[in-house]
Amino acid sequence: MRLRNKKYFGQFGGQFVPETLMQPLTELERAYVKFKKDKKTQAELKSLIKDFVGRPTPLYFAQKLSKKLGQIIYLKREDLTHTGAHKINNAAGQALLAKFMGKRRVIAETGAGQHGVATAAAAAKLGLECVVYMGKVDMGRQAPNVLRMKLLGAKVVPVASGSQTLKDAINEALRDWIANVSTTHYLLGSVLGPYPYPAMVRDFQKIIGQEARKQILQAEGRLPDYLVACVGGGSNALGLFHDFLPDKKVQMIGVEAGGLGIKSGKHAARFFGGKLGVLHGTKSYVLQDKFGQILTTHSISAGLDYPSVGPEHSFLRQQKRISYAYITDREALAGLKLLSQQEGIIPALESAHAVAYASKLAKKIFHGKLIIINLSGRGDKDLEAIRDLGVIHG
Ligand SMILES: *Cc1c(COP(=O)(O)O)cnc(C)c1O
Repeated sequence: MRLRNKKYFGQFGGQFVPETLMQPLTELERAYVKFKKDKKTQAELKSLIKDFVGRPTPLYFAQKLSKKLGQIIYLKREDLTHTGAHKINNAAGQALLAKFMGKRRVIAETGAGQHGVATAAAAAKLGLECVVYMGKVDMGRQAPNVLRMKLLGAKVVPVASGSQTLKDAINEALRDWIANVSTTHYLLGSVLGPYPYPAMVRDFQKIIGQEARKQILQAEGRLPDYLVACVGGGSNALGLFHDFLPDKKVQMIGVEAGGLGIKSGKHAARFFGGKLGVLHGTKSYVLQDKFGQILTTHSISAGLDYPSVGPEHSFLRQQKRISYAYITDREALAGLKLLSQQEGIIPALESAHAVAYASKLAKKIFHGKLIIINLSGRGDKDLEAIRDLGVIHG
């Protein structure tokens, strides 16, 4: 029999890091236990979440979309949080944890810049120095977010190694952490990386599902039939799903980025082409070639464009508690248009994957089912990308 180890979710997770990082991870784990028990800090977290992040977010009845699809559809409005996506839930929590640990500096990696902006905002609010590592290619693609981070007082460091994108930025951030661990907290952005990050980030995001559970019971007097969320690293999905896991009748679907289709090889659907492997300190499904080299991924949405997935997702999939699907770039754009024009809400391209999946699901199931879609973020950040794709005419 396998021994239970809290650092693992079944066979997934763990701490696959250089020796120099074991001590900082242990320090973080211990501090996090104290943080959760400290009444004064927890009160501070509560007020930060309420007044700075802007929670609770509404659970919004999508009346026209429901009618069109023949189902009862609600949206959990993470797009209405400060900085426009669920990432701030985690960034605010970890920034407070950094302060609690006596660190004066936070570092982060960012791909599209959303996690960088959330971290820079939380660091400014809590009086922490902030350094964000970002691939040079990404900095070019995401210029408005670079400007936002700088306005918020963060230093943005361009990473010119490798593919000059997210995974190279993560490597640089890890290097910085090793060199400056006594003053610095590494503020990781999703349910990824070595233990305790996947568990800790999930804890900071669980509030999404805790609120949604109360709100749906109040609105409909029953639990939902389906929960749908997009999965990049997997934090908004686990955030919504976690509180419903014991409710066996609630079906949950995580939606990955199908890019240009699985056969094209240009996608980020780890459960439809990945294999068990280790990336950035954790064991999970990874898109890799037969020699274990990490494959380049593609998605129209930067937030879903990552070659691995949070280890708890791999576990919950293996347990058959959560099922997974993928949505292509083209389908996601249709989802984006659908929600914008039916409800007057422009979703992030990431969230549009969840919308598109829900509209496909709606056609396959009996009418009148209760579906909650996690609207992980707002679409303002994607306007330029959408314009460049030429999907809106005239
Ligand atoms: C970053 C991001 C995601 C993907 O990250 P998860 O950790 O999978 O939630 C999804 N939606 C939005 C709006 C994002 O910014």
